[in-house]
Amino acid sequence: MKFYIVLALWTVSSCNAAENNSGSELGRQLCCNQIMMTSFCARDCIFKQCSDSCTYRCGFLNQVCGTLQCSDVKLLCGAFTAPSSTQASALIETKSLTSALREQSGRIIGRDDPDFEGNRMVFNAACTAQPFVIVIPNTPEDVSHLLKTADEYGREVSIRSGGHSYTCNSLKEGAILILMKNFDRIELVETSLSETGKAAWLGTGATWGNILKTIDSEKYSYPHGQCRSVGVGGFLLGGGVNWLGTYNKYGYGAENIIKMKAVLADGSLVTVEKDSTVYQNGRIVNHTPDNNLFFGLRGAGSSLAVVYEFLYTVHEEPETRPAIILIWIETAADLENLLQAFSKTDQYSFMVNHQISAMDFWKRPLLDPLMKAFPLAMQALRITNRKTAFPVQVMVTDMRLGAGTTTSPVPAVNYLKDNGVNVLLDNYFNYIALRPLMSAGAQGSVHYLVDRFSNYVYEEIEKEQESWQPGVWSSISLNYGSLETTSAFAQDFLNDQYVGMRRNLFLAQEVKGCSFCFWMVHFRNRQRQTKISEEFPISTRTDTQQPSSVEINLTCMFAPDQTSCPDVVNGIRTNIDSRLTGKSYSKYYNFPSCSKQGTDWRNLYWGSNVDQLMSIKNYWDSKDMFNHCQSLTNNDVSCCPFTN
Ligand SMILES: Cc1cc2nc3c(=O)[nH]c(=O)nc-3n(C[C@H](O)[C@H](O)[C@H](O)COP(=O)(O)OP(=O)(O)OC[C@H]3O[C@@H](n4cnc5c(N)ncnc54)[C@H](O)[C@@H]3O)c2cc1C
Repeated sequence: MKFYIVLALWTVSSCNAAENNSGSELGRQLCCNQIMMTSFCARDCIFKQCSDSCTYRCGFLNQVCGTLQCSDVKLLCGAFTAPSSTQASALIETKSLTSALREQSGRIIGRDDPDFEGNRMVFNAACTAQPFVIVIPNTPEDVSHLLKTADEYGREVSIRSGGHSYTCNSLKEGAILILMKNFDRIELVETSLSETGKAAWLGTGATWGNILKTIDSEKYSYPHGQCRSVGVGGFLLGGGVNWLGTYNKYGYGAENIIKMKAVLADGSLVTVEKDSTVYQNGRIVNHTPDNNLFFGLRGAGSSLAVVYEFLYTVHEEPETRPAIILIWIETAADLENLLQAFSKTDQYSFMVNHQISAMDFWKRPLLDPLMKAFPLAMQALRITNRKTAFPVQVMVTDMRLGAGTTTSPVPAVNYLKDNGVNVLLDNYFNYIALRPLMSAGAQGSVHYLVDRFSNYVYEEIEKEQESWQPGVWSSISLNYGSLETTSAFAQDFLNDQYVGMRRNLFLAQEVKGCSFCFWMVHFRNRQRQTKISEEFPISTRTDTQQPSSVEINLTCMFAPDQTSCPDVVNGIRTNIDSRLTGKSYSKYYNFPSCSKQGTDWRNLYWGSNVDQLMSIKNYWDSKDMFNHCQSLTNNDVSCCPFTN
């Protein structure tokens, strides 16, 4: 008790200091209203080293209010209380928190458990925050108990499904990490709630790889993560795109959600339907703009509740695989011409997918030798074709309803050629080399063979990606959407010395320690809306996502000790940021922006929906239980390691 009084006094004096610094009475009040939060922060300090610090937050907007130097707490406590009794009281409290956590059926993994690190790690090895404890609940009731306990003991929570975020938004220092991996239901059902008559119940902890194995993509289609180890929860709650074709065909994953089962911040179990939120005891809250949880969860879900199951629309036709075609992009005009070509068709969806991997990056038995030979083949093609750039892969998907399982490469090649795109196998040298085949009437077969081979390699890459373990690779990425032209990134896409198409060496990225970098340039060419997307728009920013706009991502992965690789992405980001100053663009929430501190991420992710989302947040989570870097209430906390 004495300990907390001391802390409270200390907090008031530091809030006065904060007032002097900021000159804001409102700021002081907000800060001083959060005395308990500071106390919790101080309590955390007891378990830390003297050199550590702890930030504490204020008010509904959860702004950083101050930083507590842990050594100060220890000194302060020492001045008023015998250290042994302070530590004893903290330990008693930790013990009672642990016993409270035990009153549910899930597994509890403390910091001293040998399984702690394995469960703590996420995909990105650069995420190093240490939760206080990890809990793996089995039931929604368990989750409910955990949220109530966290609230009672003033502990922050973080929620994780697949752990596949590029950044560190599912991991928080000192928090109770709720690992949702046991919520892995995958069940195909017939239901009149779905406009197709078919839907799937998907647990938040399922991965898209497992879903694709269960709900066969040769028969059914639905937007899913391109990388199969991506989790359902983060993907659907943040939007969910598949640039290989299903986005342009069916829209965002979130637009295909029919209803959700969730646990609210106060521990209540609810079903979130389009028009209302229904409690287990039958209480119904009809949705208004200020409390529309169905709207809010589909785009900003990680800030609002824990969703444990989704009813998801399934389309009863196969997923159409893309044709993979090699093209030349040597100039900014070539890149822009590609955009123009794509904007004219309602048949094809296009994505440039340029991948550059280090010699020893891939491990699968056949993939490894193929990918070792790949750089040589690309150098050879560039030299023999006397080109200034390396060949670029474009993935072209037939997005018409009823298109079947594959996209026929020959018509796709013809479409590209008709629109002035320079297709690789269509020049004089290749004509001579392939003349025997061509003269036998097999011109189409050449494109067909290239496509089959590339699809085989792509499938192998997907399989290997599925086996990537958390914590092995560090990663950094950039993302820009709603670009009207390619001009903001053309220079870097072409000329960057490490990953540009006109770089000197195919493997130049290795010079900076990058093991695998890939560009994805996607041309939005969305064809149709679902009934849900028409009547119940999602909260992801869509106002600037016009047809024919372009979206780019660049991601690099590297061994954790190769810390110069981020320079590649950071350099390109700085260039693009400066070209976009004063221009309208958006960012995609599932690739949290790594732009510099001070960027208005909320606006880039949710645009004009931010105010409504804040009202919804206030209604369902007024204590701001669900917050993490770059969440609704955390505009000032960056998600990205390696970025200042
Ligand atoms: C290699 C790779 C490929 C990718 N490919 C794609 C792609 O094709 N398309 C695409 O759209 N995105 C893609 N992503 C991004 C990915 O969709 C997002 O990072 C997504 O958030 C991952 O979901 P998750 O459940 O695995 O992540 P997590 O890291 O577990 O969660 C991400 C965020 O969602 C929150 N969250 C998770 N589960 C819940 C829940 N049940 N309730 C409330 N909040 C929750 C977490 O707190 C965290 O803030 C890719 C990422 C990687 C690394």
